Amino acid sequence: MARIYNFSAGPSTLPLPVLEEIQNDLLDYKGVGLSIIEMSHRSKDYSEVHQEAKNLLHEVFGIPKNYKIIFCTGGASMQFAMIPMNFLHQGSCDYIDTGAWSAKAIKEAKIQGKAHRVAGSSKDTNYNYIPSQDQLDLDPNARFVHITTNNTIFGTQYKNLPDTGGVPLVCDMSSDILSKKMDFDSIGMIYAGAQKNMGPAGVTVAAIREDMLENLAEGLPSLLTYKTFVNKDSLFNTPPCFAIYTIKLVLEWIKKVGGMETIQKWNEEKGDLLYGMMEKYSEFYNGTTEKESRSLMNVTLRLPNVELEKIFIADATKAGFGGLKGHRSVGGIRVSMYNAMPVEGVKKLTEFMDDFRKKNS
Ligand SMILES: *Cc1c(COP(=O)(O)O)cnc(C)c1O
Repeated sequence: MARIYNFSAGPSTLPLPVLEEIQNDLLDYKGVGLSIIEMSHRSKDYSEVHQEAKNLLHEVFGIPKNYKIIFCTGGASMQFAMIPMNFLHQGSCDYIDTGAWSAKAIKEAKIQGKAHRVAGSSKDTNYNYIPSQDQLDLDPNARFVHITTNNTIFGTQYKNLPDTGGVPLVCDMSSDILSKKMDFDSIGMIYAGAQKNMGPAGVTVAAIREDMLENLAEGLPSLLTYKTFVNKDSLFNTPPCFAIYTIKLVLEWIKKVGGMETIQKWNEEKGDLLYGMMEKYSEFYNGTTEKESRSLMNVTLRLPNVELEKIFIADATKAGFGGLKGHRSVGGIRVSMYNAMPVEGVKKLTEFMDDFRKKNS
């Protein structure tokens, strides 16, 4: 078996022990004679998985008990629409625009035709930084402030959450959920598609603070109101069982390796390795983001010219490093190093990059 080091931005690499457990469970889940993807979502075995995935999200990620955890489908993109549908009738809300995903969330709010404001943006410099507190124009009476905590395409990440003066934050954490310890004090809601840092595509996890669930918009279709997901425990209709089961395994893996503390330490080590090397040879490996805003999940960089970038990707692929091509809207190179990418993988990549630079400069 020859598995590559997979630096894809999403869907992305999963921990090998998790894949092995899935493989092991697939024909006969815990001796019941069928797999988890063939059994009723109302069965006792699946129910245990469903509850345990939620319990572990509370336990491992520290989501407080006064948040309801739900499993939705439709990706993070569906949340872009559901959030304004459910909350916007209560008053204006603020969005901070830090990249393509923020912009899509804003577009969906606009479709709802209700009041929303862009309270800060880094679009002026092609989203290469996170606006600082004094660059924001926040409405103290807003219903919520929406941010994208990690900008997967542009390689920026919030180091500290903005101070909203008590207005609840709604955070798209699709590409950095479970990557570091989290303080929930200012959080009204978080949500994340699973396929970057938690599991396979197909499920979106959301955690919503209980007070946010009061006075939700009336008259929405059943599958578009949070009421249904909360009241029916995300079992109104068939949930994405396989994706939720995988999330449970990933959370068990995180717990086993030492919890968020270990994961955060690994992610910081990986960042130090790669950014350290890029800083040393910045004329060759030119990071595209401002230092204070750079992401530990997605590292974006340019080489001296487009031709070299093509050769870099081809040579890296031959050497067993995949998924390094930058997003089509920005070009260049993108190294995504989510939780399941071992420190060893990033170390090997920096060695490859060191060699490549020597040969090509
Ligand atoms: C990938 C991504 C999305 C889109 O997720 P889907 O599940 O494909 O809808 C949204 N926001 C961020 C930050 C992402 O990285």
